[in-house]
Amino acid sequence: MQSKAEKAGLLERSVSSLKGVGARRSLLYSRIGIRTVGDLLRHYPRSYANYVVCEDISAAEDGSSISVKAYVDRKTQPVRIKGGRTMQRVHAVSPDGSSVELTYFNNPYATAKIEAGSEYIFHGRIQKDLFGIRMINPVLVQENEMGMLIPQYPLTEGLSSRMIASNIRQVLQDPDLEIDETLPPEVIDKYGLMGTEEAIRKVHFPKDDGEATQARKRLVFEELLVLSLGIKLRKSSMGGDKTGYSDLSADAFIESLPFPLTGAQKRCIREIAGDLGGSRAMNRLLQGDVGSGKTAVAAAAVYLAWKNGHQSVVMAPTEVLAEQHAETFRKYLEPFGMSVGLLTGSVKGTARQTLLKQIASGGADLVVGTHAVISDGVEFRDLDLVITDEQHRFGVSQRAMLSGKGTSPHTLVMSATPIPRTLSLIVYGDLDISVLDELPKGRKRIRTVLVDDSYRDRYLGFVRKTVEEGHQAYIVCPLVDESDAVPDAVSATEYFDRLRENWLSGIEVGLLHGKMSSQDKADLMEKFRTGLVKVLVSTTVIEVGVDCPNATLMIIENAERFGLSTLHQLRGRIGRGQDQSWCVLVSSAGSGTAKQRLDLLVETDDGFRIATEDLKMRGPGDFLGSRQHGLPNLAVADIVDDEKSLYTANDAAEEILRNDPGLKDSPALVSAVRKLFTESGQVFN
Ligand code: ADP
Ligand code: MG
Repeated sequence: MQSKAEKAGLLERSVSSLKGVGARRSLLYSRIGIRTVGDLLRHYPRSYANYVVCEDISAAEDGSSISVKAYVDRKTQPVRIKGGRTMQRVHAVSPDGSSVELTYFNNPYATAKIEAGSEYIFHGRIQKDLFGIRMINPVLVQENEMGMLIPQYPLTEGLSSRMIASNIRQVLQDPDLEIDETLPPEVIDKYGLMGTEEAIRKVHFPKDDGEATQARKRLVFEELLVLSLGIKLRKSSMGGDKTGYSDLSADAFIESLPFPLTGAQKRCIREIAGDLGGSRAMNRLLQGDVGSGKTAVAAAAVYLAWKNGHQSVVMAPTEVLAEQHAETFRKYLEPFGMSVGLLTGSVKGTARQTLLKQIASGGADLVVGTHAVISDGVEFRDLDLVITDEQHRFGVSQRAMLSGKGTSPHTLVMSATPIPRTLSLIVYGDLDISVLDELPKGRKRIRTVLVDDSYRDRYLGFVRKTVEEGHQAYIVCPLVDESDAVPDAVSATEYFDRLRENWLSGIEVGLLHGKMSSQDKADLMEKFRTGLVKVLVSTTVIEVGVDCPNATLMIIENAERFGLSTLHQLRGRIGRGQDQSWCVLVSSAGSGTAKQRLDLLVETDDGFRIATEDLKMRGPGDFLGSRQHGLPNLAVADIVDDEKSLYTANDAAEEILRNDPGLKDSPALVSAVRKLFTESGQVFN
């Protein structure tokens, strides 16, 4: 028993307990998140180098990385150069007679080993020019490294892959090393995986590519499995017990709407009603592309909460959107005698005090607002339904704070960002999902065209014509004003002035941007919605949620500066009524990937396809934005490249939890889950 405990201790020991790891190297290790010996073993190579001596240097391409066997005939003393660095030159001759000049900067450690009169193998990028062949800071390859795959690790300045490899080799040779199996034996069998220890040994020092691939496959699977388990456990720990609502009919509400609901809207309302009538708190994502009519579904949920005697809250990411929602919800719900309050940062003084009292006394049945609704002074009498719109703009913790205003209230999160299935498994894996996959009838597909700015007179003429026909238009620019100066980008402020003087003179044009006060923004949006303002020049502040069905034209200047999903969201502001809508993407990106991306928007309005492409191009971190999104950092797996493994791991996680809901038989998995989630700052119990 005692020896077992000692052995287990090896992985928990600090890296500084290893030979050759002093204070300096420990510090470098800690910079890349390595503190213990166990962390070191789990620091996997990013790739492998395969040293093969180049037989014919004269044929090697300039700039390529090669290994050269060469005889050193002289070595200079180190000389000091600018910036306190040292430089040392080594002259060598290869067997084919080529002379090779090796230059080392700040590398006394490497050069100390090189002696004139001996032969070495150097690996590095070669530079060829009139004066011969050179290499800068080449690695000295050891004879025993030839013909092997040499691990290349993620590094920080001062650490080399060789240092890491030698420390890892030392650990792997330690007789006290004992690596526990993390996965249940059935899972290993079923998916044909390597054991943990074998995978760790082979990922660092594979015999060949096949071993490296198998080892990585196993580690990717394990990481994704741990991720899936964590998300599923988090889900089952949410949603407190409830007494189900008894009145689950939203018919009167549905009949009062000015339009017949789509089949998808009705289905989503049924799914929500099912949750509200159940014995656990609802935890549901309502996902629907822009314009699919999420607001009406949300209002039905609010209506049900009210019928059963409870308060609701709707949180939106911007004031403009909160005000618009307040107006829509009032229109839908006040006829039933419900009272709707609007709480944003600009509701101040006595108005705020009065509203807070109403909320606390239950006088307000629904509160619509920005994140102001999660601030301290806001107390509800009986909050039982919490709705967040455009969920991806809020972090997991804000969602949790909002829920904290009630006693495990029902939650509905709405998202217009069509998230590819891979990501939704991860980001929303703890939610049930309802999808609005049908647009309201009579919508015409938005026609999108891509032009360069030599067409400006023509498309601005089209803006004028659109207004003359009684419709409205958006003109979106990437910048607010010149102070944001980026060469060749159109700024909204300047463009606005030019438009009013020239192309759109005599037409009511408004300018909307994020630097305006919220009151001014709200006033302007109101004027646009009611049709007083015909053309809205703006930055992306209109990206989210704004609803003005009479707007049928959108011009997007410098379209190449926006992400695909942003463009799709922007475009979703039009095409909301019965009339044909047009989107003009203006870009001088003549060719290349920028143009390809924009062509995709011309070709399709399928939000899922666009999002999938966007995810591929930008990677998950960027795709989801900088906000906290509930996605832990992964060490080996890549949710785009390893999509298939993610599905398999997800199935395996379901199976494991079915057989052993509390993971009692898999303590190693429990600790892996904790580690993955706590290290990335996730709330996890
Ligand atoms: P989103 O899902 O983007 O939030 P909204 O809820 O803002 O969409 O709805 C988009 C527009 O479609 C609004 O003008 C809304 O009044 C209208 N709408 C919603 N549902 C229907 C429907 N079933 N039939 C016709 N119009 C609808
Ligand atoms: Mg919306």
